[in-house]
Amino acid sequence: MARLERLVFGTIRRYRLLEGGDTVYVAVSGGKDSAAALWTLRRYIEVYPMDVRIVAFHIDLGFSTSGEVLRTVEALASKADVDLEVVHVGDFGVDVERAASTLRRPVCSVCGAVKRYLMNRVPRERGATKVATGHHMDDILVNFIKNLAGKHLDWIPKMGPKLVGTGRLLTKIRPLYEASGEEVAKYVRAVGLPVAKCPCPYTMGSCSYAKDTLEMVRSLSVRPGAVRTRHISTYLAIRGGLDKMEEGAPGIKRRTVRGIHELARRMGVPNPRYLAQCSTCGEPSSSPICTFCRIRVASQSGVGKTAEKI
Ligand code: AMP
Ligand code: ZN
Repeated sequence: MARLERLVFGTIRRYRLLEGGDTVYVAVSGGKDSAAALWTLRRYIEVYPMDVRIVAFHIDLGFSTSGEVLRTVEALASKADVDLEVVHVGDFGVDVERAASTLRRPVCSVCGAVKRYLMNRVPRERGATKVATGHHMDDILVNFIKNLAGKHLDWIPKMGPKLVGTGRLLTKIRPLYEASGEEVAKYVRAVGLPVAKCPCPYTMGSCSYAKDTLEMVRSLSVRPGAVRTRHISTYLAIRGGLDKMEEGAPGIKRRTVRGIHELARRMGVPNPRYLAQCSTCGEPSSSPICTFCRIRVASQSGVGKTAEKI
């Protein structure tokens, strides 16, 4: 059994990520991390047979790279021998790039909001009991530092390997929680999983060429501010620092991520205001009309005025 599999299997057991009767939708982006999440979950139920159904779930964001990404996730699902379910943001009346331009927000932030919404709503409506993502240890550590620096302390309880859902919030699991980005990349190469070179034209963390990402972003002819360049350089700077730390003190990253889980656990359930409902779509929202519904309105033509009405 591969080293990464032993590690991930330990995470699955330690935090009870899988339970008999589960239907787990694995959110696959076309990138390496979510490919590894799908593959290791699939391998787990192969090695330890249990009554769990794994489904690959992909959101087509309607970008220029989406065709290639879709072919990649199809190849991945077929290699893993799991069903693939695809949703197109256009079918929900959403145009990420247009909405970003109308709302004068970075494409990455609109895209993130759309993905978070659909990753919760669609699998839940289709009978999933859990949704899994490809977030790995380095993502968690970087986000933790950013949350501390930004005093987003309310977000810390959500940073564990398993976020148990309530009401319309589906339970989220992160099987790669204790695996580093490098370990994940090595595994994906060794198994030969199909991965899109760059799943998104604006990309950041999930790009296979993370180091070149800043250069690529700078060379893109997009509206200034459309991409969060500062956000990407912060991610890379913190990650570089963590890797230096690990070099000097091997194992420190894994111990720290376990500490983050313990802190998240002790801080308890997330802020109840997240449990309010959007008056338009009924999904969980912290404001009367959820971000997704505002993005949908801003995606339509002549949107400026309509968006202002909201
Ligand atoms: P990101 O926010 O791009 O770093 O992605 C975080 C996680 O969200 C990935 O590891 C995937 O599990 C999931 N994800 C990202 N993009 C998509 C997508 N287009 N469709 C389905 N899941 C996605
Ligand atoms: Zn809504």
